[in-house]
Amino acid sequence: MQKIKVSELFYSIQGEGRFMGVPSVFLRTFGCNFTCDGFGMPKGIKSDERNIIAQHADQYKDYKSLPLVTTGCDSYASWDVRFKHLSPLLTIDGIVDAILRMLPHGKWTSEHLVITGGEPLLGWQKAYPTLLSHKDMVGLEEITFETNGTQELSKDFSEYLKTHWRKGWDRLTFSVSPKLSVSGEKWEDAIKPNVIMQYQEHGYVYLKFVVANEIDVAEAAMAVECYRVNGFTGPVYLMPVGGVESVYAMNNKNVALMAMKKGWRYSDRLQVPLFKNEWGT
Ligand code: SF4
Repeated sequence: MQKIKVSELFYSIQGEGRFMGVPSVFLRTFGCNFTCDGFGMPKGIKSDERNIIAQHADQYKDYKSLPLVTTGCDSYASWDVRFKHLSPLLTIDGIVDAILRMLPHGKWTSEHLVITGGEPLLGWQKAYPTLLSHKDMVGLEEITFETNGTQELSKDFSEYLKTHWRKGWDRLTFSVSPKLSVSGEKWEDAIKPNVIMQYQEHGYVYLKFVVANEIDVAEAAMAVECYRVNGFTGPVYLMPVGGVESVYAMNNKNVALMAMKKGWRYSDRLQVPLFKNEWGT
């Protein structure tokens, strides 16, 4: 039986991007190829917040008890191995049972499935066909993969999507959040136009850049150009830095204005003002 190491599985409102406001089940898989320790830090300096929290990692028994961070990756426990005891390895049957229990009508009606991370397109791709073909998943009409856009679809998963995902091209969304230098990751590791072009063959793709200022927006524009010359046709969103309300509130209006100036879309992070971005929201 296929299994997935699950960091979080919860029902909430999608707070970002194309499906902002849509009731969604979030399946957060464990593992990421990045650390994004640069978010919220002066250029070239890495956040140490998760390392400080990790000194007492074994004291935390569930995600709800974990501290939120103001710098670095706000979902750090979904990939940092020091927190892996919080993420059980679940069978597909176990995951589907848990999903049915959280859906308001006990089955899929109009809700959306968001497969997120960490980076959900790492090794777990091999388990998704079993998950998506499960008999109790037939009512599911729309999926989003929230990805950093660096992982190619495997041959098997690509084949599965092309031959078995019959709900329609635009019912499969790749919400790609390429990491700019504000994240601390390197351009050559983060900006992968060929990967995005592969996603575009399978579904609707949009880019969502997390930015704080005009320097980040200029870098986003360079990345967009790079994707466009390779054939990317989807929309571009700017989303404010800020996993906690104080940082988000400092940035959101300015980012909306910068998006307007570029003719790009603005993505809020509704989970911050609505739910304080707590784990499980
Ligand atoms: S890619 Fe996403 S999940 Fe991975 S470290 Fe960066 S912000 Fe966190």
